[in-house]
Amino acid sequence: MSRYWSPVVHGLDPYVPGEQPRVDNLIKLNTNESPYGPSPKAIAAIRNAADEALRLYPDPRGLGLCEALAKRFGVKPEQIFVGNGSDEVLAHIFHALLKHERALWMPDITYSFYPVYCGLYGIAYESIALNEDFCIRADDYLPREDARAGAIIFANPNAPTGRPLALGEVERIVAANPQCVVVVDEAYVDFGGESAVALVNQYPNLLVVQTFSKSRALAGLRVGYAIGHADLIEALERVKNCFNSYPLDRLALAGAMASVEDEAYFRETCDKVIASRDQLTGDLTALGFEVLPSATNFVFARHPDHDAAGLAKALRERAILVRHFAKPRIDQFLRITIGTEAQCAKLVTALREILG
Ligand code: PMP
Repeated sequence: MSRYWSPVVHGLDPYVPGEQPRVDNLIKLNTNESPYGPSPKAIAAIRNAADEALRLYPDPRGLGLCEALAKRFGVKPEQIFVGNGSDEVLAHIFHALLKHERALWMPDITYSFYPVYCGLYGIAYESIALNEDFCIRADDYLPREDARAGAIIFANPNAPTGRPLALGEVERIVAANPQCVVVVDEAYVDFGGESAVALVNQYPNLLVVQTFSKSRALAGLRVGYAIGHADLIEALERVKNCFNSYPLDRLALAGAMASVEDEAYFRETCDKVIASRDQLTGDLTALGFEVLPSATNFVFARHPDHDAAGLAKALRERAILVRHFAKPRIDQFLRITIGTEAQCAKLVTALREILG
């Protein structure tokens, strides 16, 4: 008998979150948080909301936030579903929408939570290899004579590669698979990707997922959302209401709403991250790294002469954390979050020392 007393738990291979060490003065470039704080208006809104937020139940549908997002994206509030981070939104999507007789298709290298949810919800999936440049190839997601997808999910820009897929290519995938839900996870889209939100009114099978954790610097507040046809959103509400009728607390709703309204701060911080990413890409290239062109707030880079795990360890000894994945095909890469200009400069100095 399994020590878990359950065949469901026994077979699970859980997601391993990036480290959050309790150590001061670390340069933390391992989990793609923003190096800049959230909008000061979001912080003020959270402070102002505190009294009522703690005393009262939150709105079960998070309608105020749905309305603010609907206005920003030019859709209706009933086309938006909010949850505790896009991880929770994705959990509901997998649970409600992605289990079919035919397998779910996803890239072989992508956000590693997807296979975990497949394990949890008993969803069969097929991994489709990225091309030799680590890009998603739309042709591979079109129905084949011998196979069609039950559903499709990919991140765009993809993670941890950082590579984007052009909107026209996303549309080809969505249009060619009208019989199945296509989920586009746009956690990093604000740093240079093209959003598929522009397509949701045209394609009832498309669901776009975004987050406040990266470009809005609110990872700790836990706010994510999905945008799509009202029928898909209604399906997510039904599943959510089966076990957690309060997706977001009032503090999260207040902070997220104020953040959406502060477009100027959002643009300014995204632009700073993009400028630092381009600078870091140049600096790493000068040190001999191959850096994949990134449309995100991180870079994915390998050095032809140095083992990636060894480099991550040497950086750690200098109090700099980066992410290394011990996975086939990408185990020679480091994923490095874009920090402040000063943090990136320290990283480059440390790498120069380590490479000798
Ligand atoms: N999707 C992708 C591709 C991610 O990298 C992450 C961050 N780990 C998430 C979703 C989840 O982000 P959050 O739950 O903070 O919204």
